[in-house]
Order: sequence, then C-alpha cells, then structure tokens
Amino acid sequence: MELYRSLSQILEPARVLCSEADRISYSRDLWPLGTIGIQHGEMPHHPDFIVWPQNTDEVSGILRLAKEKRVPVIPFGGGSGVCGGTLPLKGGMIIDCKRMSKILRIDEISLTVSAESGIIGEHLERELNRKGYTAGHFPSSMYCSTLGGWLATRSAGQLSARYGKIEDMVVNLQVVLPGGEILETKATPRSSTGPDFNQIFVGSEGTLGIITRATIKIHHYPKSRRFSGFLFKNVPAGLEAIRKILQKGVRPATVRLYDELDTLIVASGKVKTTSASHQDKKEKGKLSSFIPEMVKRAERTALAHPSIIDKLSGLLPESCLLILTFEGAEEITEVEQRVAVGICEAEGGQAQGPEPGERWWKERYKVSYSMSTVFALDSFVDTIEVATTWDRLERLYFKMREAISKYSLVMAHFSHAYQEGCSIYFTFAASAKGKDKKKELYQKIWDTAMDVCVKEGATISHHHGIGYLKASWMQQEHGEAMKLYRAIKAAIDPENIMNPGKMGL
Ligand SMILES: Cc1cc2nc3c(=O)[nH]c(=O)nc-3n(C[C@H](O)[C@H](O)[C@H](O)COP(=O)(O)OP(=O)(O)OC[C@H]3O[C@@H](n4cnc5c(N)ncnc54)[C@H](O)[C@@H]3O)c2cc1C
Repeated sequence: MELYRSLSQILEPARVLCSEADRISYSRDLWPLGTIGIQHGEMPHHPDFIVWPQNTDEVSGILRLAKEKRVPVIPFGGGSGVCGGTLPLKGGMIIDCKRMSKILRIDEISLTVSAESGIIGEHLERELNRKGYTAGHFPSSMYCSTLGGWLATRSAGQLSARYGKIEDMVVNLQVVLPGGEILETKATPRSSTGPDFNQIFVGSEGTLGIITRATIKIHHYPKSRRFSGFLFKNVPAGLEAIRKILQKGVRPATVRLYDELDTLIVASGKVKTTSASHQDKKEKGKLSSFIPEMVKRAERTALAHPSIIDKLSGLLPESCLLILTFEGAEEITEVEQRVAVGICEAEGGQAQGPEPGERWWKERYKVSYSMSTVFALDSFVDTIEVATTWDRLERLYFKMREAISKYSLVMAHFSHAYQEGCSIYFTFAASAKGKDKKKELYQKIWDTAMDVCVKEGATISHHHGIGYLKASWMQQEHGEAMKLYRAIKAAIDPENIMNPGKMGL
C-alpha cells in the first residue's frame, strides 16, 4: 500500500494497476512454455504492480523509488518475446512502455528517425511510409512488438539481408539507469571514443536499464521490389547459392531457403517440382502432399511419432525452395536480381519465377499468428534460431536436426544471411499427455538442441534473445566475457532490481 501511494505521487493513480485481472494479464509473454502452463491453469509469477509512465522523467522517478525500496522492475514492450524475458520471477513492478509512443523527429537530411521506445513497430513504419521512408525492420511480430523491445532483444526483421538487424540500425539511445539517472549517447555516424555504449544496452533485455528513446536509420521507400524463386536439390546446394550471392556483394532484401519439409509445408504443393514421370517419383509426389497435410492438421499421430515423419521426409523428392526479394532503386535491383539469378542457375537451381516470393510477401505475417491449433491438440510448437559461420553451417543444421528429430517433428529455414555466415530457424512440434510430461519433453528438446549448438561453436540465439529460457547456457555462450557482463551489472545495478533472474546473471 505504501508503494502504491508513492507510485501514485509519480504518476496519476489510473496509470498504476494492481487488480488481479491486470496482474494475470502481465504474468507472461509469448514463451510457449508459458502457453503450456496456462493451458493447465498454471500462472506462477504475478507482478505486484503494472505502471504506465508516459515520459522519461516518470520512468526515472519510478526507478529511483524502486531502487530505494528494492522492488524488482521488469520493462515491458509488446510482450511478444518468446523466451520468458518479461516474466516477473520475483514479483515487483512491470513498467509498460507503450504510452511512450511519440515519433520525435524524422531527420530527412541524415535519414534517421527518433522515437520513444514504446511505439509499436507497425505504427512507426506506417508513419515513415506516409512520409516516403521505411525503417526496413520487419519482424513477424511487427504488429505486437515495440521499438524498445526490438532494441532490448537484438531483433531481426524479414529483410535483414539488406537493412541489417536492429543493432546495425541504432544511432543513439536514451536509457534510464536503475538509480533513475538518465543517460543519452551521442547521435553520430561512427566514433572512435572507446566502447560503444549503445551496444551495451542493445540486447541487455531490461537487465541494465530502460530504453526510453532511440534514433535509428531509415531509408527512402523502395521504388522497386522484385521477386525470384528457385528449387534446389537439397539444403547444401541452396546454401552454396546464397553464400555466393552474398559474397559477390549482392544484397537481396529477403533470403529464405526452406529445407525439404518446410518447403512442402510453406509451398503447399504449389511449387513446380521436378518431372515426376518415373513411378518412384510419383510415389514421392504422393508423399509430398500427404506429409504437409498431416503436419498442417497437426494430427496427434504425426506429432506423437516424429521419427516416422522424419523417415518419410527422407523419401521426399529432393527440393528446397529459395525465395529472394530485392528492393531499392530500380536500376540497382535490376542488376542485383540478374546477378543473383545467374548464380542460382549456375548452382543448379530451377527457376520458379516470382510467384513463390510474391505469395510469401502477401502472407508474411500470417504464419506466426496461427500457431494455436497445435496447442489445442495436446501438443506444442516452438522455434530455435541459431547462427554460425558458413564453414560450419551445414554441419550445424544436420547435427541439430538429427538431435531434435529424436523427440519432435522438426523443419528449418535459413532466413538471415550475411557475407560471413547465416542463421538457422528450426520449428519443432511435439506431443505429450498432461502438463508434466509436456514440460519434461519441452525441456528435453531444448537441452538437446542447445547442447549440440554449443558443442558446434554456434551462437545459441540469433534474434529471439535469452530471457529466462536460455539463461543457463549464457556462461557457455560467453565464457570469460560473462564476468564482464556481471561486473557491469553489479556496477549499474548493485541491488539487482532490473529484470532479476534473466540472462544468466
Ligand atoms: C508471432 C511472433 C513473431 C515473431 N517474429 C520475430 C521476428 O521476426 N524477429 C525477431 O527478432 N523476433 C520475433 N519475435 C520475438 C519478439 O517479437 C521480439 O523479441 C521483439 O523484439 C520483442 O519486442 P516486445 O516489444 O514485444 O518486447 P517484450 O516481449 O515486451 O520484451 C522483451 C525483452 O525486452 C525487455 N524490454 C522491452 N522493452 C524494453 C525497454 N524499453 N527497455 C529495456 N528493456 C526492454 C523486456 O524486459 C524483455 O526482457 C516474434 C514473436 C512472436 C510472438
């Protein structure tokens, strides 16, 4: 009650919430393990309060109070995180940033936008589009995630090959530290003045402070957008084409290579497959429509016996779909597409025309929002996104797929590619009876996958972040560098009020 009274002196009481309904609403993010828990009536972590500051000074006042009273503070953007990053593990205060949603300045000379951190991604992009610009950042959660959340988790958008990840876009930040001090980095294209403090707060997932404002790069809205689709005989062949395209200096906007099973599910038999005149190919053709149908309907048998699907997948016609998109100035996209198409053909890709890419473009936000049918079937689904350099990528893919497929149905695509390497996005779905068995299986899959990933020297997260889910692998991920992170945390936040229990701290 005393805390409530003190908070109500900083913000009007209507912006300090503590009803049971509000506390339940903020007890989870979109971590699938939380969804499993909720299905079985389990909601273990409730915040004590939810506060809605509307400017930096209010955030500063709240953090000063939190430090004085030693109350845990959990920054909250859209709550679209999938790793339990906003779970109030020790109760305390959720600071919902969404009332801080103003666009402060569009700098049309330097091509940057400054905005408050609680702005929803789609609102920011729409306003930029109205003025003839784009931020070029399109996570699938565009409609339900915020600028602050993107920065705090090192998010990646669907056009990352051209525009980069959010850490490549950030120009400056305003951050409120746990004691209430307000820190602002300089807006400058580059500098040579010691550590880059933007990059200390980017990816810190609320453990070091609250990002209240940011300036990020923007681009002229593309005048031209082009699509190309190719079928490759297998994953290694498709990856070789992508590597050569990127290393030639071409920057497609989208690069998405689907493995065999993902190709069938995504393409739904609409992709032209190789001529199926041979009887064997006919049989494989039947499988091509049978497996995705089975998986699409999330039939319990398919999910309960993943190894069967995995074996059947091995019999599928060899075909992996690659989608490329190009955008920007007409004369540049024309050349980029021509060069990329030439490389794909030289690597044995069968041209599919623009249709697969155009279809993906139209439906690009649809897939992610329609997962719930699987949960309704005593099953669960989740994704694992890892990354490594080109020299280790293929091995990582096969090793992780093999490990995960022992326990669940698994497919993958490669959707964020760089000159030096690429990420892999595994989707797995599995089934078990009852809460405990489901949780046990879920944990087993993650343990197995992460162990292989660490052993292969890859990073355990390319863009979803760490949160609570992957906290126990942080030491293995960073080794000695974890000491530095702990030392920074201890210096800024000795009372450990900022998002406690996360990031392996
Ligand atoms: C359907 C769906 C699709 C997705 N697709 C993508 C994708 O394509 N690419 C991608 O990268 N991710 C994706 N995600 C994951 C998620 O959307 C991202 O991690 C996103 O960046 C989280 O933003 P948010 O505003 O929802 O943050 P939240 O979930 O609210 O918070 C995430 C973490 O950031 C911290 N945080 C939030 N705001 C601040 C702030 N202002 N200051 C300091 N810390 C803060 C929180 O404490 C928490 O630790 C997807 C999720 C879903 C559900």
